[in-house]
Amino acid sequence: MAGGTAPSGEPGADGNLRVVLLGRQGSGKGTQADRLCALYGVPHMSTGDAFRAAVRSGSELGKTAQGYMERGELVPDDVVIDVIRAHVFGPGSAYGFVLDGFPRNLSQAEALEGLAAPEGLDGCINLEVSLDEVLRRLSSRRVCSSCGATYNLVSSPPKVAGRCDSCGGDLYQRDDDTEEAIRRRLEIYEAETAPLVAWYRERGLLISVDATGTPDEVTARVVAGVEERRGHPRVVAG
Ligand code: ADP
Ligand code: ZN
Repeated sequence: MAGGTAPSGEPGADGNLRVVLLGRQGSGKGTQADRLCALYGVPHMSTGDAFRAAVRSGSELGKTAQGYMERGELVPDDVVIDVIRAHVFGPGSAYGFVLDGFPRNLSQAEALEGLAAPEGLDGCINLEVSLDEVLRRLSSRRVCSSCGATYNLVSSPPKVAGRCDSCGGDLYQRDDDTEEAIRRRLEIYEAETAPLVAWYRERGLLISVDATGTPDEVTARVVAGVEERRGHPRVVAG
């Protein structure tokens, strides 16, 4: 996985940002993660993207994950944690990371606390957006089949219909962006993932961000929140 340093002059050019992103489905985690990674020069780890790639390639991991994903359920913790351990904390991994879609419940958060020790995390960015707004966003979400970039037919459509602006790949609607699977994922989010907001707040790591408005507006708030926290000494969770 590519690591490296941020272009000079960008915020956090030391290139070792270590953050997780929380936020409902449709809150813009993938978009903001991509932007943070470009700004800070750290790798983006999206567990959802990793599982979708595994399903496409027909690997054992893909076969394990597919059924859970189609039903909108969580892939078992041990499977997800193994993926994170190997890709984010394995030999040769870059020092920094933006985690998008992990952790998603308390046992994953506890596992991450162990993996990230002793340095810990710089923070947990919570992208706040209402249920009504995410339902609107998700039904018009489209994803590039080659590079994974996301578009919204209403708020950020591609320049050419059905084609990715950056790589020209075909855009498609995710299998789990059906009404039924969206509802299930949002329920699981409220029950299992939303409690992590309080968990990170207790550890002094929470960065709450209003995720409404344009992607640029949200990025500006995210970077301001990260910089404010990084002005403080790094908190060692646990
Ligand atoms: P969304 O945020 O819209 O649910 P993701 O791309 O983050 O989409 O995840 C898609 C699916 O991948 C999830 O519904 C789940 O089945 C699986 N998945 C992703 N991350 C995790 C995780 N940390 N733990 C368990 N399952 C996960
Ligand atoms: Zn693309």
